[in-house]
Amino acid sequence: MHPLLLLLATPGLAIDLQADLHLDTPTQLLRRKATLDGEGMEAALPQLREGGTNLAVEVLWPPRDADWEAHAARLFDIIEAEDRRLDAVMLARGPAEARSVIDGGAVALLVSMEGAHGLDRSGIDGLRRLHARGLRMLGLTWSFSNRFAGSAGDGGGGLTPDGWTLLAEANRLGVIVDVSHASDAATMEACGWSHAPVVASHSNTDARREHARNLSDRAIRCIARSGGVVGVNVHGDFVGGTRDVAAVADHFDHLRAVGGPGVVALGSDYDGLIKPVTGLEHAGKLAALWAELRRRGWTEDEISGARGGNFMRVWEAVERVSDALTWGSTPKSAPERPRGPQ
Ligand SMILES: [Zn+2]
Repeated sequence: MHPLLLLLATPGLAIDLQADLHLDTPTQLLRRKATLDGEGMEAALPQLREGGTNLAVEVLWPPRDADWEAHAARLFDIIEAEDRRLDAVMLARGPAEARSVIDGGAVALLVSMEGAHGLDRSGIDGLRRLHARGLRMLGLTWSFSNRFAGSAGDGGGGLTPDGWTLLAEANRLGVIVDVSHASDAATMEACGWSHAPVVASHSNTDARREHARNLSDRAIRCIARSGGVVGVNVHGDFVGGTRDVAAVADHFDHLRAVGGPGVVALGSDYDGLIKPVTGLEHAGKLAALWAELRRRGWTEDEISGARGGNFMRVWEAVERVSDALTWGSTPKSAPERPRGPQ
């Protein structure tokens, strides 16, 4: 290795972090019987490498007509198998672990579940089991309301009693709560009451494209006040306008204007059966997006925040809240014995 590269790889130095908060690649791996280093996907390893993404949120999505829990477990099996098989990717269970994976030149994988319907039978126990396996993000709903929360897809309401318990347990475990797809009421309740920052992993802004899947300004402000982030989606229907890089950048501009630069992130939705906008057809093309923000006068600090710094801040805060909520209940080392005369 060139000495300069060695220096760049030294832990503790700033890393060139780029996080994508929502990738449906595991679903494609299952459907196509493909591998993460294979061809033909939007955000498999070749595209992640080309576009600079080194923190990839890989999503367990239980389709409506499946056995939800069994399906999510199967997708988790696939991610774990790829983690074992490939040196270039590694499951990350916390921000420090993610940084060290990235420092080592690999892509860190954060496992998320899209919709708490995947916990329909098992509830809190199921969340604990998935957390023990490495799950670190949970979407409250997908396109339909479930026993925990209302969905934007069917005009659902807020959190149910089970949903409040789930929110508290996610905070306690250190699982990031994701309100993309949730109803406006569930979004406002979750980001208003969560002890830890809340994210909308792959949602755009209503102001730039009115859509049930996009966020109102009050929801953006609520997420920002929680300390969270909104990951901008590149699906043409959610982007609207000219459906190109500039139209995506318009959502970035609006998020920054309403919630401040700290609320901005990326959650492309690649491999989720989307129609990506022109110029961002796959994860290998993301440099065009950062170039467009730079052209619009975004500072390098703001861009590096949007690329991943803001999300890493969220993950660290979620972990701190979990530590605080579990302090005393799960001692990490034996207490020191009192000194002095016995
Ligand atoms: Zn989605």
